Amino acid sequence: MESKRQFSIILIKLFFIQYLSVLCAARNFDFFYFVLQWPGSYCDTAKSCCYPTTGKPAADFGIHGLWPNYNDGSYPSNCDPTAPFDQSQISDLRSSMQKNWPTLACPSGNGITFWSHEWEKHGTCSESVLNQHQYFQTALNLKNQINLLQALRTAGIVPDGSSYSLESIKDAIKEASGFSPWIECNVDESGNSQLYQIYLCVDTSASNFINCPVFPNGKKCGSQIEFPPF
Ligand code: 5GP
Ligand code: 5GP
Repeated sequence: MESKRQFSIILIKLFFIQYLSVLCAARNFDFFYFVLQWPGSYCDTAKSCCYPTTGKPAADFGIHGLWPNYNDGSYPSNCDPTAPFDQSQISDLRSSMQKNWPTLACPSGNGITFWSHEWEKHGTCSESVLNQHQYFQTALNLKNQINLLQALRTAGIVPDGSSYSLESIKDAIKEASGFSPWIECNVDESGNSQLYQIYLCVDTSASNFINCPVFPNGKKCGSQIEFPPF
């Protein structure tokens, strides 16, 4: 009788530990920023850029990263030194990564350095939901879900070097996706504010876009911004 009772207590304890670990895992982060960069704006700065060794990327938004974040605006980084980037785990995604997640930093690279940085800094902080293959696959899927260039084009906003109102850019993306983005600007060689990155928010399961719980602070845009060609 006594051993039966002790067994039940152990079972209850085990159940409780399991419950706690699920709760903790769910609290690793609150949402993701899915960040896309406009290559024209990365390249026309004073610092310039280098095309990947695989050639000039398409004139489309490219993925910068999928970043776990907290609701208070802070974020975790470099969460698991025991899980270094391993390119053999994403060999099936390589051509899609080269197309949709091209690196533009100098010197020219094949993408490995950029992807490795994104995985180690950000991806390792969402391992409770996504392993390395899932992390990259998910980002590629998210990019496929919203065609940002098309959304802007529909509203008459095209990368022709002219200026557009920040509001019209946000509205066009909201119209197409249902969600308001955060727009980050940088400056071109002449100091003009231009459309650099688009942030959308994604739930912790990494499958649905959501309204952003908080917007990043930093690099704001003017009310009129350039959309340079690439
Ligand atoms: P920057 O200084 O260019 O704004 O940001 C440098 C890097 O810090 C980004 O590329 C990204 O890795 C990280 N970072 C900046 N802001 C955020 C943020 O709000 N959330 C997360 N998760 N990472 C960020
Ligand atoms: P984050 O800003 O995400 O912390 O880091 C971006 C890092 O990746 C920087 O070290 C940057 O030099 C490198 N990187 C390589 N290719 C690219 C690219 O195409 N865009 C950006 N934003 N960073 C890149």
